[in-house]
Amino acid sequence: MTPVDAHDHPSTPGMPGTDAGLFVAAPRVEHREPAIGIGSPTPRLSWVTTAPSGCSVAGYEMQVEQGGVITTTAVTSDQSVLVPWPGTPLRSRERAEVRVRALPAEGPPSPWSPPTVVEAGLLDPLDWVGMGAQPPWEDGALDDRRPPILRRSFAVRGAVERARLYVTAHGVYEMELNGRRVGEDVLNPGWTVYPERLRYQTYDITELLAPGENVVGAWLGDGWWRGRYGFDGGTANIYGSDIALMAQLEIDFVDGTRTVVATDDRWRCARSPVLRSSLYTGETFDERELQDGWSAPGFDDTGWEPVRVALFAKGTLVAPDGPPVRCTEELAPVAIGRTATGSILVDLGQNHSGRLRIRARTGVTSELVVRHAELLQDGELYVRTLRGATSVDRYLGSGGAIDWEPRFTIHGFRYAEITGYEGDLEQLSIVSRVYHSDLRRTGWLETSDASLNRLHENVRWSLRSNFVDIPTDCPQRDERLGWTGDIQVFAPTASYLYDVSGFLSSWLTDLAIEQRRHGTVPWYVPVIPGGAFWDPSRPGAAWGDAAALTPWTLWERYGDQDVLAAQYASARAWVDQVERLVGPSRLWNSGIQLGDWLDPNAPQDDPSAALTDRYLVATAFFARSARRVADTARQLGDAPAHAHYDQLADEVGQAFRTEWGTGAGGLTNETQTAYALAIAFDLLVDPSERQRAGEALATLVIDNGYRIGAGFAGVNLVADALTATGHVDVAFSLLLEDSTPSWLSMVNKGATTIWERWDSLMDDGTVNPGDMTSFNHYALGSVADWMHRTIGGIQPTSPGYRTVRIAPSIGGGLTWSRARHDSPYGTIRCEWALDGSTVSTTVEIPVGVRAVLRLPGSSAETALEAGEFTFRSEV
Ligand code: BGC
Repeated sequence: MTPVDAHDHPSTPGMPGTDAGLFVAAPRVEHREPAIGIGSPTPRLSWVTTAPSGCSVAGYEMQVEQGGVITTTAVTSDQSVLVPWPGTPLRSRERAEVRVRALPAEGPPSPWSPPTVVEAGLLDPLDWVGMGAQPPWEDGALDDRRPPILRRSFAVRGAVERARLYVTAHGVYEMELNGRRVGEDVLNPGWTVYPERLRYQTYDITELLAPGENVVGAWLGDGWWRGRYGFDGGTANIYGSDIALMAQLEIDFVDGTRTVVATDDRWRCARSPVLRSSLYTGETFDERELQDGWSAPGFDDTGWEPVRVALFAKGTLVAPDGPPVRCTEELAPVAIGRTATGSILVDLGQNHSGRLRIRARTGVTSELVVRHAELLQDGELYVRTLRGATSVDRYLGSGGAIDWEPRFTIHGFRYAEITGYEGDLEQLSIVSRVYHSDLRRTGWLETSDASLNRLHENVRWSLRSNFVDIPTDCPQRDERLGWTGDIQVFAPTASYLYDVSGFLSSWLTDLAIEQRRHGTVPWYVPVIPGGAFWDPSRPGAAWGDAAALTPWTLWERYGDQDVLAAQYASARAWVDQVERLVGPSRLWNSGIQLGDWLDPNAPQDDPSAALTDRYLVATAFFARSARRVADTARQLGDAPAHAHYDQLADEVGQAFRTEWGTGAGGLTNETQTAYALAIAFDLLVDPSERQRAGEALATLVIDNGYRIGAGFAGVNLVADALTATGHVDVAFSLLLEDSTPSWLSMVNKGATTIWERWDSLMDDGTVNPGDMTSFNHYALGSVADWMHRTIGGIQPTSPGYRTVRIAPSIGGGLTWSRARHDSPYGTIRCEWALDGSTVSTTVEIPVGVRAVLRLPGSSAETALEAGEFTFRSEV
């Protein structure tokens, strides 16, 4: 059985070493691995090539086998990323095999790559033959309703060629077949704007079938569909009050016939041993209610009830663009002990998103309770940061043994407290299973500074904790929402560390849908009903700008022009709306603005009251987005729009300078964020003005003792603005400062993730009393993008890293750095080490990428093509 999107961690499967000759790795299909159940009839292909030094690739041949027919198509360049589908368009369920070989400028072609199997999902709503199935009982509108389990027995007669399960739900589901779990994904179908887009998953279940009676079973949970969600007590039944399953098993026999088992009124239903399940408040499981063998043949389901037919809007069903949520790691406790009151305190050593799996042969009482928290205060769980998301899991049983992990909930935590276990601690086996979208890792950075390395790991852990089907703000409290501002700031960092192309383009599709439904880019996507402040949605800078800036980030990092094209209308609509709102002044100086959110100087209870004028922030982002839309228009060949938005961006820039500029590179609002925005967003056109702004920014940072003075709007720009104006040394000192507020002050206080506030934990060791105090928010970690480009030295200069600039900066007392990014064309590596005043730099460039290298201590630039090179230079 192959789960859809099963993870293939090596970046270039089947690749021999670099010196072995000319080889092409198995192609990738769209942004999915493996490509079973793909949603496009013409999926694009990408592949990575290795070549011996001196060998240049002139082109490729792509071969597709479809229904026994082989077609070969030539590619006449070394472009190997998102190449258009070379076969005839796939029909629903159609399978094809693709392989590629490289044609060198001289000599024979490479061997054919290993094949990749592509299989289309159900591409037409009419492919879904069944109805949905839901329990026959009325649940009422109450919270914490007991979900159902569903089953259907069916016969398999004859030799099976292949079998697929297509499945989705209102709510969340897990499937079983003949008593075995189907796949390893959790929280499927994930969270999208359900009324318009509901994902289905495809599983290869061939190996799970057996001759004779077979049984398919389903667990359902409330999930985002009807579970209570959102702040201030949340809202239940956001999408509906009933949960339901939609499944379609298709069994193709060797004799060419097909049997389809779809959800309909022949399925049967019982109450689940999961008594209640909430993403926020946790899950209660009653082992005594578990019916042995319920999803296996031979089970007597006469006590079960027939299901009621449920309606699914089949036109909304779509295949996933990115990977599902899975367990990617198990954390063993770093400490475990009993408290004075007899409960067990577990420290997993790492803040993360996940849940405990608990095993013991004996010693469990009839009720085991697990509570979770991000930190301890005075030796006890500190749960205030969870707000309404109480995160309590309960296991009920007849006592004795346990082997349990909750199914439909997830928690953001490092510590857990367990009550109800009276046995020996040695006999208790606990791990925390880490859950997030199972993205392929693509980025690494390590340096000679252990604290910086910890900071970088903290960034990666906050990414992992928050990329849980959608890009969330935090994994622990009663939000876990797709805040647009947070990801706008963090997407450049994320796209170095992991392949987030499918994940984020899926979310951007939802952003555009919600923008249309709500009349503006909402604060968070998907939208849920909220308090008076967030609902209805209102335009806010830096958050709404995700519509124009984040597609560009994906374009820049993955070279996927289809994403730009798909988001173009949304990006334009956003800028057009701001243009209408501000009128001829071009100054965005009205309305609600979160501004430089959580600037360290803002009062604890008012994170938007930053030092930087919120309207300066808004106007700067308006200019930036207008420019990005102009760039997008140019890229898409829309000349009139290009001219229009370029002019708009110029006018907004002019308005910005008139309002806040002193004319000599100064700003009337002298803050780190104000200068960083002006420089990084190119709002100061005169080079000498820009230079003086850089000096003013450097002075501000120095006068602040190298402490950071920016919140969400500026945090990812200060180091870049300093570097761009010749103050990279100041940027290093800013990064390496460790008094509060600073990145390393978090590290020194024991952080294992990035905090929401610079001082979530204050210098006296107590938790910041403010409402916005999470210990796992990625936005302030967005400085890692600067680290990758500047310390690591790997900078994309054209989309998809087709061209790069390798220009590491040495500073901050660092003596070495090792950076690696698995770009769409393959691995780019830059490693440098300082020995006295001599730096040795090793660079690896993949086939298809042209690099310009500037060695530390030198201003000369060298052009490089594919290969591995080592240089020495003096600093
Ligand atoms: C979230 C943020 C978000 C902010 C906007 C918070 O509650 O956690 O990360 O961007 O609200 O105001």
